[in-house]
Amino acid sequence: MNPNITLENTYLTLPEEFYTAQLPSKVPSPNLVKWNSSLAKELGLDSEFFQSKEGVLILSGNKVLENSTPIAEAYAGHQFGYFTMLGDGRAVLLGEIVTKDGERYDIQLKGSGRTPYSRGGDGKATLGPMLREYIISEGMKGLRIPSTRSLAVLTTGETILRETMLPGAILVRTAKSHIRVGTFQYANQFLDTKELRALADYTIERHFSEVSSKGERYRNLLHEVVNSQARLIAKWQLVGFIHGVMNTDNMAICGETIDYGPCAFMDTYHPETVFSSIDREGRYSYQNQPGMASWNLARFAEALLPLLHDNKEKAIEIAQEEFNLFSKWYHNYWYEGMRKKLGLFHKNEMDEHLIEALLSMMLKYEADFTNTFRDLTLSQTTQMKLADSTEYQQWISLWQERRKQQEESLEESRKLMESVNPAVIPRNHRVEEALERAVNFKDYAALDSLVAVLRHPYDYQNLNDYYTTPPGEAACGYRTFCGT
Ligand code: AMP
Ligand code: MG
Repeated sequence: MNPNITLENTYLTLPEEFYTAQLPSKVPSPNLVKWNSSLAKELGLDSEFFQSKEGVLILSGNKVLENSTPIAEAYAGHQFGYFTMLGDGRAVLLGEIVTKDGERYDIQLKGSGRTPYSRGGDGKATLGPMLREYIISEGMKGLRIPSTRSLAVLTTGETILRETMLPGAILVRTAKSHIRVGTFQYANQFLDTKELRALADYTIERHFSEVSSKGERYRNLLHEVVNSQARLIAKWQLVGFIHGVMNTDNMAICGETIDYGPCAFMDTYHPETVFSSIDREGRYSYQNQPGMASWNLARFAEALLPLLHDNKEKAIEIAQEEFNLFSKWYHNYWYEGMRKKLGLFHKNEMDEHLIEALLSMMLKYEADFTNTFRDLTLSQTTQMKLADSTEYQQWISLWQERRKQQEESLEESRKLMESVNPAVIPRNHRVEEALERAVNFKDYAALDSLVAVLRHPYDYQNLNDYYTTPPGEAACGYRTFCGT
């Protein structure tokens, strides 16, 4: 059998400082535990081959395809505010595939062993976190939020030391690219303008080719990246997704959500919700995400300064002008999204007040974020503390009035709400339960059922209480853990 794929590696056209050739480490006993056949189909990959013995050798990195030149990418980044040199410390890029629609995707192995960028780490990944990335990234796809995807998860046959001994694993990840804000920081900090320009040109060519011919191409690049991040973060906020580690190395220039570590979806609405156990200051809390994205984009703008103008003052001015657009764009995307969540088609000046009033009641009455909007969509009440309050009932009257003023019918309004208010999200307690069965008992039934449901979060015809019910009191204060 043969995989019948051509791997390209355009990243190798960049100056050599941007990567190191690195073969994945051989693993003792690779076993494919998750294969994403729907993604494989989208990519035009032969599922039968990749699930065969020969296919597993390739997915595990034990065999490298003839046309593949595996590399580890170099990058830097601000982690929790501190700048440091990083790079793929436990990942290699096998190459890029181009789908029949002409879309180019990186194929990366995560957990594939040490690289020159591993610092003190072992280069390995463990099964739970890799399956977690699989679940959440499929959930993001279902929610129509740009994200890297997970093609496969394999166990390696190794046992990895973390706080306890855990099964070793590899995630096969696809992404529009793995170029990060941190890649630009690396170029600006450690290389010359020539290399920085090469990276910017490559990025424009790969992701923003439509702006490449226009005059101020590097300014345009900044403009587009600021815009796509504003759109992405608004999408996160609108479904209650909390990334958890929005370091500059975890912000992809292509606008995809990347690097699922201690992330989770919010159950009870609270702006200060934090999930990462290492985020003691709440730096990456729900309410801080737009601010952190903006902080990261300021770092991106700084890294681009040498390309924006020969005169430094002028370059700063340009950077500032573009960067300042973030907050306006973010608010526009967010309000537009919120209006849709309430079934409102067009802008009206009272909407901001309507939205703020609802959120402040959700906070006061500890309402579940997802289910509050689902209930409004279905004209039902499950958030009883909220629903029993007089202020909420008054709010409902105002909202209904507002909906009736629209040209569109109430039925059209309800349909709009159904299309943007997920009935189901990857709730932490269900994700953890699925992981526990898979990791401890090699039982993937719960994980498969969960992923199947998460692929259709807007399907209001087949609601299943099991997945839509928030956790009980016992699960409150949930935190995921780093060291993934
Ligand atoms: P992350 O928290 O996964 O975004 O990783 C941050 C940085 O640490 C990246 O440069 C990773 O490649 C590196 N890293 C994370 N875990 C390991 C590990 N087990 N071994 C080596 N490097 C790692
Ligand atoms: Mg990362």
